[in-house]
Amino acid sequence: EGNTQHWQALGRRHHLPPFSDYKALNAKGSRIITRAEGVYLWDSAGNRILDGMAGLWCVNVGYGREELVQAAARQMRELPYYNLFFQTAHPPVLELAEAIAEIAPAGMTHVFFTGSGSESNDTVLRMVRHYWAVKGQPQKQVIIGRWNGYHGSTVAGASLGGMKAMHGQGGLPIPGIEHIDQPYWYGEGGDEDPEAFGVRMAEQLEQKILQVGVEKVAAFIAEPIQGAGGVIIPPDSYWPKIHEILARYDILFIADEVICGFGRTGEWFGSDYYGSAPDLMPIAKGLTSGYVPMGGVIVRDEVAAVLNEGGEFFHGFTYSGHPVAAAVALENLRILKREGIIDRVRTHTAPYLQRRWRELADHPLVGEARGLGMLGALELVKDKRTRTRFSGIELGMRCREHCLDNGLVMRAVGDTLIISPPLVISEAQIDELVSKARLCLDLTAGEVE
Ligand code: PLP
Repeated sequence: EGNTQHWQALGRRHHLPPFSDYKALNAKGSRIITRAEGVYLWDSAGNRILDGMAGLWCVNVGYGREELVQAAARQMRELPYYNLFFQTAHPPVLELAEAIAEIAPAGMTHVFFTGSGSESNDTVLRMVRHYWAVKGQPQKQVIIGRWNGYHGSTVAGASLGGMKAMHGQGGLPIPGIEHIDQPYWYGEGGDEDPEAFGVRMAEQLEQKILQVGVEKVAAFIAEPIQGAGGVIIPPDSYWPKIHEILARYDILFIADEVICGFGRTGEWFGSDYYGSAPDLMPIAKGLTSGYVPMGGVIVRDEVAAVLNEGGEFFHGFTYSGHPVAAAVALENLRILKREGIIDRVRTHTAPYLQRRWRELADHPLVGEARGLGMLGALELVKDKRTRTRFSGIELGMRCREHCLDNGLVMRAVGDTLIISPPLVISEAQIDELVSKARLCLDLTAGEVE
């Protein structure tokens, strides 16, 4: 504490941070986070901040878990690193693969490990194309994603995703990627009945498959609930219609579980919540609760069987299945099970969060307060009836700044504010989150009236 200016000066001089507005940052200086415990962060000025985002949707078991520290230290002493290339393995990665197979949806008992969510999506892109080549259909190359979906920041991840600002920097997407619209009823559904809108958005998948040509389509990729796009929860009609279309055509389904995986919806995976049967599931984040970097792809047995016939898959990373990360992930899964965290989310924490969160809908700025499991979003509008946004001011960012100044992390996606707190948050802490959010909405409203 007390070194804030020193750290900020180092940042200005030497650091190029990810996803940051460099001009704004250099003018203001970054907020320096120095430690964390439970659901709270502390900054270098000594302020305590309730982390309503669990870092980047990842610290599922909360901060300060000594068991995870011990698991990492034990593994570092025993075998700090070895690779898995050229037919080698080590116990932690094998035990982790077994532990994941036990919790994954039925028939998905194989795992390919990576170092992050983005690498997991690079992996699915290469894996599905390799799969079709092994099956004698190398022309099946096209992957269909969704506008405003987020699948990471590498070239493949950003291409599969549908963030137009990212596509605009660097000539993305790469060839062979197509996008359909998102099922964002509040923002794009207008007067249409939400369920009819959900069906119509799902039918775009069929139209796109037919337009591209079934013989060329390799896979469809989607997040069960779009996270970074603004916690977009599809209408109930959406996933059943998508499942129906997927069943009609011979293409693979990739459910990006990087956010929804490991309990966020009150089930192990978002696909469990929606009753989906994906062929591939990219995972990361909650796999280790963010304590160390790790990702992976959970693979359906039929797909793994084809890969097993295909000889060498020329793909992998130095840190694929890193032993220290694997040991931490194993212990993290044990904590989730031992403490019954996901069951408690489903039966207690999520219902309580959702009830309290929806109370914010009565605020003059809030057009919609929605959520599912341990995810929530607030749509800030000027006119609730017409859902008109404020123009000329970045309201979401303002509100986000008020939150930080008042000890709460919420994230702004345009004028949508979102939360994704640690799964272990208590009812009293949820009360604190909601009352701080209301205070900051009031402060923001005071500036625009
Ligand atoms: N997929 C989804 C759904 C994500 O939300 C993210 C990150 O937010 C990623 C992939 C990329 O993960 P990473 O940042 O670990 O590369």
